[in-house]
Amino acid sequence: MTIDEFSLINEFFTNCTHKRDDVSLAIGDDCALATVPLGYELAISIDTLIEGIHFTAAINPAALGHKALAVGLSDLAAMGATPAWATLALTLPRVDRIWLAQFTQGLSELAVNHGVQLIGGDTTRGSLAVTMQLHGFVPKGKALRRDKACVGDGIYVTGTLGDAGLALQARLKGRELMPENLFYAENRLDWPRPRVPEAQAIRSLAHAAIDISDGLAADLRHILNRSGVGAVIEMESLPLSQPLQSSLERIEALTLALTAGDDYELCITAPLQAYQQMQVLLSNFGCSLTFIGVITEGSDLRCCLKDGTIFTPQYEGYRHF
Ligand code: ADP
Ligand code: MG
Repeated sequence: MTIDEFSLINEFFTNCTHKRDDVSLAIGDDCALATVPLGYELAISIDTLIEGIHFTAAINPAALGHKALAVGLSDLAAMGATPAWATLALTLPRVDRIWLAQFTQGLSELAVNHGVQLIGGDTTRGSLAVTMQLHGFVPKGKALRRDKACVGDGIYVTGTLGDAGLALQARLKGRELMPENLFYAENRLDWPRPRVPEAQAIRSLAHAAIDISDGLAADLRHILNRSGVGAVIEMESLPLSQPLQSSLERIEALTLALTAGDDYELCITAPLQAYQQMQVLLSNFGCSLTFIGVITEGSDLRCCLKDGTIFTPQYEGYRHF
């Protein structure tokens, strides 16, 4: 690599995050060296954000840095893991120092908040793409997995759903929104707050979990498939924010809550008796938890409307292929 790339890495990445005691060698060698604590498993997740697919050229670079880390943190949250280290593969069309400074600032703020250290990566030239790998710890055998939902479990979601989808409708389909509703929705889309401490707080009470990145219906289906169960969802119980409710007709808002991605909330299954205790634990983080349905026998996902009819969305969630 050229001296330019090396000084770029030094300038922008070497000290941009938290310094952790469990890292003995970070950026600058062929590999990073780090230690997993005794009694813990390493949880690893990787995600790529590509211009034109996951974000548009107009994105604020700080929001992109934030989001690249947030999506990986959300995966760790979904497993009940504690974040520790990140590695970053960054493909850039050119070296733009202002862009890089903003990108690393967005990344760095969220990393410091979650005690994450950037320990390595790769920098290449090409169309803008950001691949972030996250590493975290979870006590051996205690991870929240997709394959542990049980018949009779309640299905719960954190926060509200469909907000990021509302922002995408405004941005990509030209839907007009009141300025305060647009501000709220874009904030949810561009600056997601992964539910990391929330998931850890309820880890011992929940059976299965997934983060909602592609849409509730699509993501819940992963739990159903992996666990060999079905589910009934009450559409009317899906939690909707005020801005979403005041922007769309009810059925449209509920459809977004069921099918739109990018909210990075958690979908959890747990025994019905655990609901109240989970709500209390999550309220400490200012996070709501809403009961939306139950796990059943079989393999179907049935979404019921108020009058008892089954709602079938035309589209269940984002798919790349
Ligand atoms: P190598 O050629 O041995 O793979 P590189 O020249 O790609 O090493 O990178 C030099 C060092 O800088 C390595 O420690 C690598 O992990 C780190 N690095 C490169 N790009 C990034 C990046 N975007 N973010 C964090 N660390 C990076
Ligand atoms: Mg390399």
